[in-house]
Amino acid sequence: MKPDRVVVLGCGPAGAAAAITLAARGISPVVIDPRPSVEWEPGEGLPAAATPLLRKLGVWPAFQASGHLRSSGFLSCWGSDEPAFRPALLDPRGPSWQLDRAAFNGILRDAAGTPLTRRVNDVRRHGPGWMIDRLEADFLIDATGRAGALARLLGVPRRVDSRLVGMVALLPDPSPAEAASIVEAARDGWWYASRVPGDRLVVALFTDASVARDISPDRWMSLLESTAHAGPRAGSGFPPPKIRTVAAGSSALSQCAGPGWVAVGDAACAHDPLSSRGLHDALSEGIAAAEAVALGDPSAIDAYAARTAAEYRAYLDDLAWYYRQETRFPDSAFWKGRSGQV
Ligand SMILES: Cc1cc2nc3c(=O)[nH]c(=O)nc-3n(C[C@H](O)[C@H](O)[C@H](O)COP(=O)(O)OP(=O)(O)OC[C@H]3O[C@@H](n4cnc5c(N)ncnc54)[C@H](O)[C@@H]3O)c2cc1C
Repeated sequence: MKPDRVVVLGCGPAGAAAAITLAARGISPVVIDPRPSVEWEPGEGLPAAATPLLRKLGVWPAFQASGHLRSSGFLSCWGSDEPAFRPALLDPRGPSWQLDRAAFNGILRDAAGTPLTRRVNDVRRHGPGWMIDRLEADFLIDATGRAGALARLLGVPRRVDSRLVGMVALLPDPSPAEAASIVEAARDGWWYASRVPGDRLVVALFTDASVARDISPDRWMSLLESTAHAGPRAGSGFPPPKIRTVAAGSSALSQCAGPGWVAVGDAACAHDPLSSRGLHDALSEGIAAAEAVALGDPSAIDAYAARTAAEYRAYLDDLAWYYRQETRFPDSAFWKGRSGQV
């Protein structure tokens, strides 16, 4: 039976996509998120494959008007000292983008409706439905990102496949017209550098959590200076950056749906940023799960969950292959941490 009262926990890309899709199918969900806006800039790229999803959600005109930058592609130094350029401009779906993440979330939130600003800490069964922080609900959607807050409250285990973290700094961009993003492998992990709107440059070292523990801001700077591409892109003379260390590894719920609930986006499966698929999958899963919920057919939700789990397994195989192509990693502390040897 089609549920009347749906609560969406989390209003990032996945939760907003779910809420917009439900509303288009005649269900007005309650959306809950404790954060009124995004607190930091990860410097994310949005692939062209996300364009049809933004159109489907009705936010494409707002997206185009909100100052995201077109990416010219990736300069990648991986598996070889020779950099390779992978252009982003010859994609029939259009360009890929370097996002202003706060603006991106803002567009989606405007379309989804203002969320209740609170953190959900209590969920229990209430007859055939749920009682969630004094709200009655027939169905719950967990879109709380890597926190997986609902799944945690329900005791659903999460499988952790890597403890990758990003050590991320936001710098003034010395060359804001430079539209290529850089991916550069090093012994301690891999570097990412990309412009973001506002003449800013995100520079990040992705490494294992066990390695990051011993990397002070000074060490981060000297590692950056030893790179062939990311360091020169960042330039010199900027003040000591604030470095934020954030989880960025692969992990997934042991099941991403159960009776009366479903998980979407990072709450269901979180991806290594090397795959550039986190935001795309957050949008596509938010849409697909909400379509299944609106059908009121449990087998549609089971099919969503089975598809999401299968895609995650295929992603892990692809990612492992990709990491094996880089000859600098074996025997490094990064590799030992990645393969659970520390
Ligand atoms: C350093 C870094 C770089 C990345 N680069 C890229 C990239 O280049 N391209 C790409 O596609 N992806 C990238 N990603 C991944 C991308 O950021 C995520 O996949 C995406 O944000 C997932 O969206 P989401 O809506 O599932 O979760 P989130 O964006 O994390 O949103 C979750 C929401 O849930 C809310 N919430 C949390 N707890 C609760 C609670 N208890 N109750 C209610 N609400 C709650 C939060 O406030 C938040 O608004 C990167 C990630 C990192 C860490």
